[in-house]
Amino acid sequence: MNKKAIGLLSGGLDSSLAVRIMLDIGIEVIALNFLSPFCTCTRKGAGCKSEALKASKQFGIKSKTLFLGEKYLEMVKSPKYGYGSNMNPCIDCRIMMFKDAKQFMIDENASFIFTGEVLGQRPMSQRRDTMSIIERDSGLKGLIVRPLSAQFLKPTLPEINGIINRNRLLKIRGRSRKHQMALAEEKGIYDYPCASGGCLLTDYHFVKRLKDLYRFQNPISLNDARLLRVGRHLRINDRCKIIVGRNKEENEKLEKLVQPGDHVFRSIEYKGPLVVAKGKIENGAMETISTITAHYSKAPKLTKILVEVCKYPDYKLPPQEACSLDEKAVKNLLL
Ligand code: SF4
Repeated sequence: MNKKAIGLLSGGLDSSLAVRIMLDIGIEVIALNFLSPFCTCTRKGAGCKSEALKASKQFGIKSKTLFLGEKYLEMVKSPKYGYGSNMNPCIDCRIMMFKDAKQFMIDENASFIFTGEVLGQRPMSQRRDTMSIIERDSGLKGLIVRPLSAQFLKPTLPEINGIINRNRLLKIRGRSRKHQMALAEEKGIYDYPCASGGCLLTDYHFVKRLKDLYRFQNPISLNDARLLRVGRHLRINDRCKIIVGRNKEENEKLEKLVQPGDHVFRSIEYKGPLVVAKGKIENGAMETISTITAHYSKAPKLTKILVEVCKYPDYKLPPQEACSLDEKAVKNLLL
């Protein structure tokens, strides 16, 4: 074994502390950050990737970001170890990350992996039993060091082999971040994002949309997953759903995400949202979508307006005459 390790670094408090501890005990660290189609960040304007990059720069270490794409979407649909409190498949998610981290460790000729995980902090993936399942299934038995909780856990191979002095590792467990915050101050780590950000799979409203997508579409694409973050989503029928931009920024995002074959609706005379319809437009769906487009436009209530319809990218259909739906009818379709 050598003194080189891969540190999973999100840029948050715990993973930043773990990196600091390992650097302080003389380990050469390469940071690895994962992005999934469902990760988010609490800081406006900053993504998870930029937090990790910023932290690596502050530590002066090399870093790499890996994106978990389509295979992640497949895993979330039916995870081997099930879901947490919402649709978060934390055990399978960690196994997938660690498998990729293992490959990265081999490629970089590093000897082990470490994380900022704290025993008992997360109810699903940071329990003693699930940590050991994750290690086993990712093929990393004895090779994952958790510096913040190490004294509560079995010695790992780098400790057994004298690469790391176990006495320099910590004894923190539980959900409180009191110890970590005090330690961060001591070690001069001040700028870390709030711990409550992270994963849309724990967000009830987001998950409602995701469940609908898995139910009515197979397979789903990364573009479909990206669309779940934008606008209001309304299911018109089993074969069609629409996304309605809520403001200029969302209309622009929708414009970038629209795919060939999607139908795009917008009011001609009044300001209003961009409406993207995914799936088949049949059995009165054209009329319903046009009335929803009118409903969310700036047209006075009960005014008949003209709605432009285009099959993306350039097939224009005849404009539709439409009048807004009543609030209750629209609410019933909302996901
Ligand atoms: S909260 Fe989300 S990102 Fe974190 S382990 Fe669970 S599924 Fe993965």
